[in-house]
Amino acid sequence: MENCIFCSIIEGKIPAEKLYEDDKVLAFNDVNSQAPEHFLVIPKEHIATPNDANDEALLGRLSMVASSIAKERGFSEKGYRLVMNCNSDGCQSVFHIHLHCLGGRQLSWPPG
Ligand code: AMP
Repeated sequence: MENCIFCSIIEGKIPAEKLYEDDKVLAFNDVNSQAPEHFLVIPKEHIATPNDANDEALLGRLSMVASSIAKERGFSEKGYRLVMNCNSDGCQSVFHIHLHCLGGRQLSWPPG
């Protein structure tokens, strides 16, 4: 998709600190990290918002990849948060779905 920053990362046109890649998904560090560990897992297929997602296996894969990276990086036992923002009330700013994984510190709840 033209003018999609995450599609540009997938295509290698914009650099990213990649943590994992396979034929369906890519994971990379968030450029504006909100925790000691903060990475995003995205599908390679352009899907604008969670409302547009209809592939259960692909959505499940995002979550499995996130937990597997958290295990590899050694913060899974202490815990982490997985979140996917949707549209304006959800504060979605990049319209290519992405699962945030935040960890490495005590997070607060409820979120703002
Ligand atoms: P959201 O508000 O849920 O749409 O989150 C978008 C996230 O993408 C934010 O946390 C941004 O910091 C992150 N982000 C935007 N551009 C880049 C980029 N080029 N590389 C890595 N992360 C990015």
